[in-house]
Amino acid sequence: MEQVTAMKQSTIDQKPSIYSLQLQELKEWLKENNEKAFRAEQIFDWLYTKRVTSFEDMTNLSKQLRDRLESAFTLTTLKTIIQQQSSDGTIKFLFELHDGYSIETVLMRHDYGNSVCVTTQVGCRIGCTFCASTLGGLKRNLEAGEIVAQVVKVQQALDKTDERVSSVVIMGIGEPFDNFDHMLSFLKIINHDKGLNIGARHITVSTSGIIPKIYKFADENMQINFALSLHAPNTELRSRLMPINRAYKLPDLMDAIRYYINKTGRRVSFEYGLFGGVNDQVEHAEELARLIKGLKCHVNLIPVNYVPERDYVRTPREQIINFEKTLKNHGINVTVRREQGHDIDAACGQLRAKERKEETR
Ligand code: SAH
Repeated sequence: MEQVTAMKQSTIDQKPSIYSLQLQELKEWLKENNEKAFRAEQIFDWLYTKRVTSFEDMTNLSKQLRDRLESAFTLTTLKTIIQQQSSDGTIKFLFELHDGYSIETVLMRHDYGNSVCVTTQVGCRIGCTFCASTLGGLKRNLEAGEIVAQVVKVQQALDKTDERVSSVVIMGIGEPFDNFDHMLSFLKIINHDKGLNIGARHITVSTSGIIPKIYKFADENMQINFALSLHAPNTELRSRLMPINRAYKLPDLMDAIRYYINKTGRRVSFEYGLFGGVNDQVEHAEELARLIKGLKCHVNLIPVNYVPERDYVRTPREQIINFEKTLKNHGINVTVRREQGHDIDAACGQLRAKERKEETR
């Protein structure tokens, strides 16, 4: 008897998330279930405008349809384990998934609005030498709906103060281009005017540089903001910092970036982490300027976030300014990333890394 219950439970856990469905897919599902296609819009309204937390609450649907939805899909895919607020307003969420894994999502407050940083994978297999997200390897990809649900959850938290999520950055745990199809599905759902209706120009995706996927993404021509984690001005140094550069080398990566810019007409952001004594000298800035000269781009300098398991140190303030000045002198658009949520481990992977350590203690 107990075994039967356990089996039933695991089947229930594996129901797809309703947030994984595009409007069109939901219409098809309704048709297959002898329901009217227009119900899909009503369901989207409950999910993304009214943001209910149970199918039961979708009161303009018949009881029969609500029950059908209930037995086919899950609505509560994320359980909030930790919700920490920083003195600067940043809120960090640790969510538990149906299979017990945990992921992080961060809400950042800017003067231009509220931005959510989402996770795309449980862990990461890219192995960047400075990053906390990759420490335990990759456990699994997130479903599109598990990524969508992160934004919905944060929006539900903001509903209490009548605020809105105005932008989304795919810069949490995981390599979005290593979970390409689900990431794309996620983008289409949050961008849809009947979904969360977040404008393409308010969405940013960041990749460590999976070249074939950059071409594929360029061909999607989605007009969202695109960021590349560059971190080094030459291929040798990049391979030392990011093992992915051994498979996808910098010169080929730059070709892909040029393709992206030509195809989409969009500017690319280069993220450049400053790792003390490694890639932060004026010579590196000069070399970087040569590498990206003439490209429609912007450079975002990120002072290294301290990760206890990694031994990178911070670049002194004055040197950061010199680095920035050198790029500016070459006519390159550059900013130094403002830090938020320092007191709550808001740098990617840090909260989850801490949690994992506590689990294994
Ligand atoms: N996997 C994607 C998405 C992560 S985005 C990518 O690599 O682009 C998070 C950004 O923070 C990336 O640019 C990443 O390289 C950078 N990052 C990771 N750990 C960091 C650390 N300890 N200090 C500074 N930047 C870091």
